[in-house]
Amino acid sequence: MTNNERLDLLERTHSLPLADYRALIEGYTPELAAIAAEKAVRIRKAIYGNTVFVRGLIEISSFCKNDCYYCGLRRSNRDCQRYRLTPEEIMECCREGYALGFRTFVLQGGEDSWFTDNILCKLIAEIKTAYPDCAVTLSLGERSEESYRRLREAGADRYLLRHETANAAHYAHLHPAEMSFSNRMACLKTLRKLGYQVGCGMMVGSPGQTSEHLAQDLKFIEDFRPDMCGIGPFLPHSATPFASEQPGGLAMTCYLLSLIRLIHPSVLLPATTALGTVDPTGREKGIEAGANVVMPNLSPVSVRKKYMLYDGKICTGEESAQCVACLKARMQSIGYEIVTDRGDRKKEE
Ligand code: SAH
Repeated sequence: MTNNERLDLLERTHSLPLADYRALIEGYTPELAAIAAEKAVRIRKAIYGNTVFVRGLIEISSFCKNDCYYCGLRRSNRDCQRYRLTPEEIMECCREGYALGFRTFVLQGGEDSWFTDNILCKLIAEIKTAYPDCAVTLSLGERSEESYRRLREAGADRYLLRHETANAAHYAHLHPAEMSFSNRMACLKTLRKLGYQVGCGMMVGSPGQTSEHLAQDLKFIEDFRPDMCGIGPFLPHSATPFASEQPGGLAMTCYLLSLIRLIHPSVLLPATTALGTVDPTGREKGIEAGANVVMPNLSPVSVRKKYMLYDGKICTGEESAQCVACLKARMQSIGYEIVTDRGDRKKEE
């Protein structure tokens, strides 16, 4: 089979054997990527038209008990300025975001034990009471099943927990021994069982990553069928063990976005901040490869530079309103429109 034939088959059946995913990845050419993108955009337009969903990202804490080798918030990074937003500050971000048209709020942070279940449940309930037409998405890392259950009962709708890599040995290359691949995967399954809309995802071009690993990521996405899938290039952070590693590429990330769209037509796929960081028009290119979500930053400007997952992170200077206006203009420039909508996954497969 040629790679063109593999793309045709993927478009029709949304599934390929692992070896064929690997062949598609190793056979990357700009021409093949253009064909994949064209198919991906067609399939996405049939489901979502030319609309792009927005999520207001609120970075609630830069404290983290974990020590992931790639992340600037890792606990061993003494240079990271730590902060946490108060529930009142988070409510203020939501108020501002609601006025700007956001109907999804994403609370993301390091694994900060200050945010106990009680504090989070109260906060989630408060957001859902004040804005019943909004979805609340959490991205707070690994917690116990009991904790995930309580947060869900308090009203959380969605949970983003990137699997980071679907290969256990590669997972161990990216994380210290106290973190486990099996627990990451178990968390994703628990979140699904509890009725969350679940997001997984991986970094592209992370240290030690091979085409076999990426093929395993695609197979995992095919099997798990997440509601959301966040992928972006790995970008080095100067105060981590991966400081001198090569960044992941724009082109491979966009190509993978297209393949994921073909695997799972209705998946919610963000053009991430990391994609906008590797290339000034990276997010536009992500949308043109098949993504359909953007996540403007709603965090208070005073803390944005302290949430440095990687060097050079964009959108750390502007007010939220400016971030939204900038993204609206970017989407319009490529013929897409941002909508005021919760932006749930369409179930028309
Ligand atoms: N603590 C939460 C949120 C982590 S930050 C959790 O564990 O889910 C969100 C995502 O940023 C991570 O899942 C990771 O994939 C990405 N990220 C972290 N460091 C990065 C880096 N150096 N380059 C690119 N992406 C990075």
